[in-house]
Amino acid sequence: MKAKILAALRASDGYVSGQDLCGQFGVSRTAIWKAINQLKQSGYEIEAVQNRGYHIVSIPDILSENELRSIRKTKWLGDKIYYEPVSESTNTKAMQLAEQGAPHGTIVVTDHQINGRGRRGRIWETEEGAGIAMTFLLRPKIDPNNASMLTLIAAMAVARGIEDETGLKVGIKWPNDIIINRKKVSGILTEMSAQADYVNHIVVGIGINVHMEEFPEELQNTATSIFLELGVKINRAALIERICEYFEAYFDVFLRTEDLSAMAKQYDAYMVNRNQPVKVLDPKDTYEGTARGITTRGELLVDTWECRRLVSSGEVSVRGLYGYV
Ligand code: ATP
Repeated sequence: MKAKILAALRASDGYVSGQDLCGQFGVSRTAIWKAINQLKQSGYEIEAVQNRGYHIVSIPDILSENELRSIRKTKWLGDKIYYEPVSESTNTKAMQLAEQGAPHGTIVVTDHQINGRGRRGRIWETEEGAGIAMTFLLRPKIDPNNASMLTLIAAMAVARGIEDETGLKVGIKWPNDIIINRKKVSGILTEMSAQADYVNHIVVGIGINVHMEEFPEELQNTATSIFLELGVKINRAALIERICEYFEAYFDVFLRTEDLSAMAKQYDAYMVNRNQPVKVLDPKDTYEGTARGITTRGELLVDTWECRRLVSSGEVSVRGLYGYV
């Protein structure tokens, strides 16, 4: 009910009467009053004026289930929201919830991720209350070989979401790094549980640096945050909502063909190192070439001095020839 009260208060420019809220939710005035007080305790500034009702004055930067639910616009993504104030890793939690039967579209969110993971056992650094750490749990009936494309879809959703919320120019370093001003603002980690030809579940984890004012020394040259680029602190829940809307739309398009044929052009337009010299760091072989864009299966096209090569994600990182991008 608190999420619905929040939504009602948000939808109104003026005051919402206690009577109306009682009628809408079929509960007593005391129940409404209690719920409003709990919302106030969690940081919302709500004014109560006799004979007029309630009015929301300010919305804090809160990542609770109620907050996310009250602004949710998606159809299936986020139908179940699992929020925990502190989490080892939202991907690990989502995997556990999946084993216990959590449905397609469940979102796991935390305010403080302690052991964020990157690809190949790397670490994703986070800071309490300063970032977004969330995971989408998906159960699509697709060929497991096509699952890695979901990382690219998530990258586009994050890039567009950040652009909408900030007006900043955002790019993607293939396959999964979101870049602002040549530095990484967000990373994505997709993990899967599958049989040979059947997907049990897929988790798509998204880490975004939102309010961070500084980074550990080893990341200073390659990492940035929305605050560092924009100079103001944006609302994290609003950004999550926007990303969810884009991801849901892209995902539904992806399912029709199980590839990126409808989205590859848009992905290419976001690619920061398209037509730029790159170094491909493949554990088996490091080589240089020019990045040209992606195939409809999400592989990176790289022209080397001798031939065109197709790079699959997974094990590979790409760097600019003269720096991170
Ligand atoms: P690349 O090495 O090209 O950045 P990757 O896709 O291989 O990309 P990820 O697995 O996505 O890397 O992310 C882990 C890496 O990201 C870490 O090894 C570290 O270099 C960097 N990193 C960790 N935390 C952050 C952060 N908060 N912001 C930006 N970069 C980070």
